[in-house]
Amino acid sequence: MRGTRSGHTETIAFFAANGYSDCLLVNRRFFQSQVLVMDSIILNYGGGRQTVAICVLIARGVLPRPDVIVMADTGRENQSTWEYLEQHIEPFLSQHNLHVEIASHELATVDLYSGNGDLLLPVFTETGKLRTYCSNEWKKRVVDRYLRSKQIKGGTRWIGFGFEEKKRWVGLHGKTEGNWTTICPLVDLMINTATCLEIIKSAGLPQPQHSSCWMCPHKRNAEWRHLRDNYPEQWQEAIAMDIEVRANDEKGGVFIHHDRAPLGEADIDVDESVGKIQQCTLGVCFV
Ligand code: SF4
Repeated sequence: MRGTRSGHTETIAFFAANGYSDCLLVNRRFFQSQVLVMDSIILNYGGGRQTVAICVLIARGVLPRPDVIVMADTGRENQSTWEYLEQHIEPFLSQHNLHVEIASHELATVDLYSGNGDLLLPVFTETGKLRTYCSNEWKKRVVDRYLRSKQIKGGTRWIGFGFEEKKRWVGLHGKTEGNWTTICPLVDLMINTATCLEIIKSAGLPQPQHSSCWMCPHKRNAEWRHLRDNYPEQWQEAIAMDIEVRANDEKGGVFIHHDRAPLGEADIDVDESVGKIQQCTLGVCFV
């Protein structure tokens, strides 16, 4: 396993220098689990704080170098994610001979609707919320197809869930399906999102915005405000898509915003209670 032992030593030095004492207690588990892995390591780069922090830890030699760092292009990713990738992450990674490869949305076999016409977005209905099918179709399957095109058919897939996101990683971390085992490095290292911000800062990088599609129903009001105030074209596209999915719904009862109001009319200037937000537990969005 590349760099495993020296990686562990460097982890301790890095965390000690930066005051992350909790991580020192447990990061041994990560390296013990990785020692067993002899095949490809793939980092699913989501463009958010967690996977940016993982890139920093890789560059520092704290984590082993993956064989591939790959990002699925959903065709609707926030413009801020692309800008951060181009302006900060690619220049940073290139100093370490690393690079984020893009899996094209053309590799997806479905777009907004499945073959039988079901909407794939996790929109809000009158009484609940549809399941998140888009993440699987536009990210996981797209990346699988991309990797197969490179003759990579199995190995370890790194997902950037933070340690505090237990609902998202429990049952997934350490799970083997077919030829793939999913590992959440930040979980084994007990690194939460707040520590990710420190790690990013320590590398001299600015903080990335949340990563997601511009019309994602999982967005919080703060993220909607950021879109409205900084990317008005994408905000208008999200409003138009909200209208479109409602028009295509038999009962006209689906909404992108969690208030179940048209996006253009929802009150996004207030911060909602935490319980209102249900984040995707499936895929690699928002990390
Ligand atoms: S960010 Fe939201 S809309 Fe985009 S793929 Fe993920 S869950 Fe679906």
